Amino acid sequence: MTVQDRIEPAAVDTVVTGEYVITVNTGREIFRDGAIAVDHGIIVAVGKRADILARYRPATLIDKPDAIVIPGLTNGHRHLLCCAKGAMPEGGQTLAALREFIYPSFAALTEDDMHVYARHAAAEMIRFGTTLFEEPGCNHLEAVLEALADAGIRARTGPWTWDQAGAAGADGLPDWLTMDADTALDRLAEGVRTVRKFNHPRILDAVTIEGVGTCSDELTRGAADLATEYDSLFVLHKSTSEREVEMELKAFGERPVAHMDTIGALHERVLLNHMTSLDARDVELVVASGARISQNPTSALKLAKGTTQTGKWRELAAAGVPMALGTDAENVSNHTDICRAMQLAALLPRDSTRDPNAVSAEQALEMATLGGATALRMQDQVGSLEVGKQADIVVFDTGNFDLRPLHNPVANVVYGSTGHSVDTVLIGGDVVLRGGQLTALDEAGLRHQVEEINRRVLGEIGIAPLPRWPII
Ligand SMILES: [Zn+2]
Repeated sequence: MTVQDRIEPAAVDTVVTGEYVITVNTGREIFRDGAIAVDHGIIVAVGKRADILARYRPATLIDKPDAIVIPGLTNGHRHLLCCAKGAMPEGGQTLAALREFIYPSFAALTEDDMHVYARHAAAEMIRFGTTLFEEPGCNHLEAVLEALADAGIRARTGPWTWDQAGAAGADGLPDWLTMDADTALDRLAEGVRTVRKFNHPRILDAVTIEGVGTCSDELTRGAADLATEYDSLFVLHKSTSEREVEMELKAFGERPVAHMDTIGALHERVLLNHMTSLDARDVELVVASGARISQNPTSALKLAKGTTQTGKWRELAAAGVPMALGTDAENVSNHTDICRAMQLAALLPRDSTRDPNAVSAEQALEMATLGGATALRMQDQVGSLEVGKQADIVVFDTGNFDLRPLHNPVANVVYGSTGHSVDTVLIGGDVVLRGGQLTALDEAGLRHQVEEINRRVLGEIGIAPLPRWPII
């Protein structure tokens, strides 16, 4: 008898198995016929299925011998303040869309609306395998925190903040949340304290300002300092279009990223969203500062930002800049599916550089998982399937045309999957999606509530979201 034969299997809460377990660990190991053991929400072992089942006796066995298992996906930019999906007037570019549709919609949302929107957004993200997201500034923060806690999703969030005193001026901005820089900084600090007082292990704070020509230098620098003081994350939109770049060149004589550096607001606790208009110096500044970024490919394409012409995605990825993938608000991307963002993150830079190696499938999958967690400064807790990390796990059903025939699981997930193939999701060891069904949220009920709110808001702001073709 060997020593191993005499050892009784250890009791654990859960074991998840799969045909391929893609760990994104330090060695980027993929276990064929693999498994993950989870206890008290934490990963306690990752390895071969037979070995894990010999060593552990799970209370719950999620046995999916045909599945692809990956770490939970991260959405690095997903607004909860948002507008009716599919209702944004066609043909609008970033600045016009913000002023004519997006800001008036935000202003119309009540506390109850935000509670519904947050639960609906969490439901949609979980359904498609997102376990962690970054919310770049919501309103009615306490209602949002309650909703996210109910949903079981992991998040970083803070209050929507601006002082309407940036390079774009206040023209066209709504009479909504108007405040000066000092009041805005108080609101940001209060936001951090509110999230910390809420004291939920899955919800972290962020220092969130809008940033596209709507914030003074005083506010931007002050917010960057707050993130350092509180050891938080400073989140803002930056370099989102050529128009924004031209505007800042005119106002400051330098590009947006360079200007952030000049005023002392670019550092390692900064997450820059969008970043579709960069030059080589911008890339150098981001790399040197240790700042993080999110790439939002469907949002960039739909708003005609020129991301394949003025983006620097290959350079940023090659330099190892922590990069999350995001979907932006649902009115912009019309979806919150990080699988679709992965495809574009892998493919668009190839076209723009005419280099088929510009961004690999592995790099895209890494952005969607560990890269996103790192961009949110949460890589010590999540982002990979490793012992000691939180059990945020996504199981893809492969019994479909997207994922079969199956020879290279990374290629199939990145190029072929959508979130509809996600079967099971665990967050912190809790099963929040089972067999494609949400365990804590009423999907159909939330959809009905959101459509009602959308209709009311669209009526208030005078937008009729109709296709160009007649509806008879
Ligand atoms: Zn945004």
